[in-house]
Amino acid sequence: MKKMMKKLALAVACVTTVAMFAACGGKEDDAKNNEQANVIKFGTNAEFPPFEFVAANGVIDQYDGIDMAIAKNIGDALGKNVKIENMEFDSLLLALENGQVDAVIAGMTIDPERADAVNFSTPYYTAKQVMIVKEDSTIAKAADMADKKIVVIQGYTGESCVKEMKYEYDAFKKGSEAIMELVNGKCDVVVIDSATAQKYVGDNAGLKIVEDPEAFDSEEYGIAIKKGNEELLEQVNDILEKMIEDGVINELSAKYSEQ
Ligand code: GLN
Repeated sequence: MKKMMKKLALAVACVTTVAMFAACGGKEDDAKNNEQANVIKFGTNAEFPPFEFVAANGVIDQYDGIDMAIAKNIGDALGKNVKIENMEFDSLLLALENGQVDAVIAGMTIDPERADAVNFSTPYYTAKQVMIVKEDSTIAKAADMADKKIVVIQGYTGESCVKEMKYEYDAFKKGSEAIMELVNGKCDVVVIDSATAQKYVGDNAGLKIVEDPEAFDSEEYGIAIKKGNEELLEQVNDILEKMIEDGVINELSAKYSEQ
């Protein structure tokens, strides 16, 4: 009898232990799920000041800029923590389609080709392509680039514009590298988005911006969201529209452009 009791006690102890482990595992899974549910992941390419760049004290971890502040606002409004996944500009839409990120915020121009693959939010910023040249350059309009050494950034709208104009060009992975090429006299012109150009010209002596509104159409930036995720698209649109209405986006643009 004593032996049997012992066996029973052992059995009970085993079952309890197994149950405890199971419960623990369950709790851990729950915690993980909750944590995931409480996070919104934005993909970006933090090489595009004043929209996204790496800073000592960013608005989200080491990431700062207009887009990062917008992402933070969206996270706050949704009651979620924002995580930034920094990657090459070219990889962003694929990462979104794969579910590696929930949304892409990267000064990304809404264009028909991209809109085939993903949904875009309400536009939140209007930009255009401009040319950055040395102060003494004779380039005064886009057509003057014909016989010049042109540099663009890979996958940016600037690249498609120059390609459409049928000019030869070199494509760099980073705006900062393209600017160095110009500063060092290794190219004659860099074609890039207006606000980013302002930033680079402000930070590097001896450069100027040349605009040609007839050659470059205006562009609008949007947040990209995976097709089918209509819920997030609607939430993001509501938040963005309010930020535009309240002047928050204008304030952020002014703040980060002046820095
Ligand atoms: N607006 C440009 C584009 O969408 C550049 C964006 C960026 O470099 N982040 O291609």
